[in-house]
Amino acid sequence: MRISRRHRYGCIPKEIHYPTRRLEGKVALITGGASGIGESTARLFLKHGAKVLIADIQDELGQSLCKELGTPDIISYIHCDVTCETDVQNAVDLAVSRYGKLDIMLNNAGIAGEDELRAIASEGDNFRKVLDVNVVGGFLGAKHAARVMVPAQKGCILFTASVASLLYVGVPHAYITSKHAVVGLAKSLSGELGEYGIRVNCISPHGIATPMLFKTLKTSDKRKVEEIILRNGVLKGTILEAEDIAQAALFLASDEAKYVSGVNLPVDGAYSINNQTWK
Ligand code: NAD
Repeated sequence: MRISRRHRYGCIPKEIHYPTRRLEGKVALITGGASGIGESTARLFLKHGAKVLIADIQDELGQSLCKELGTPDIISYIHCDVTCETDVQNAVDLAVSRYGKLDIMLNNAGIAGEDELRAIASEGDNFRKVLDVNVVGGFLGAKHAARVMVPAQKGCILFTASVASLLYVGVPHAYITSKHAVVGLAKSLSGELGEYGIRVNCISPHGIATPMLFKTLKTSDKRKVEEIILRNGVLKGTILEAEDIAQAALFLASDEAKYVSGVNLPVDGAYSINNQTWK
């Protein structure tokens, strides 16, 4: 058989077979998985063959979601406040004891906080709370995931950051600071953990109509929220949805991304390179 020059040098495999269930046999832990982006990601990961443990503080929501999606042998819930190290440790341990291992840790739990837009009027306690959930919570998730991934010599740690990790978007300083910190943490971890075959990446979404955004915009009117999102988007006529972030997470968690580490992937329709301010 004649092998083409490009094929011989390993540039282009002759045929690429993409599995339809891209996370078959993998185990994922998703913080903040009871709602919004975390919920969508749990649904998609499950569809792609992963076993999923949802960790959140909204117990009723998390439990009913799991009931809807399947039986405890493939999806289950644990109460876990990501700011509490014992809770995070227990969640990681449960993933391992129930499903045998941990391949994917998605540090997604986050809050926008009650902080003020103006630094001068901002309360230190609000600022600390946002950093505690968004940054310390993510650190604890990564730390305990690494505890079980290092001996396995593989794993994937993901963070849901934000376009607020890339530029000033006209939201409170605490949120912007926290998301910049998450990206710094992910870069730092990717440097340390690469040696053990562990990849670490971030995803940075633009605005999505989840409970967090409803709260930030102080409305429960979905149409109004979507109008604001459309008005602020660069990519006209398309609305970003939680499932779009789940799709990015699916790629980064899958073996197709086996050499992708240390990146912050914006899923923002070019918002962050067009330097817009939320209006
Ligand atoms: P959401 O409010 O629907 O989901 C956040 C989840 O995190 C909730 O289920 C909540 O209970 C959970 N959570 C909050 N504090 C927690 C804690 N201490 N411990 C455990 N769980 C906790 O909002 P979302 O939009 O799906 O947010 C998910 C992530 O996406 C967040 O990190 C957020 O900053 C990020 N993000 C959201 C947007 C957006 O526009 N919605 C844009 C960029 C980034």
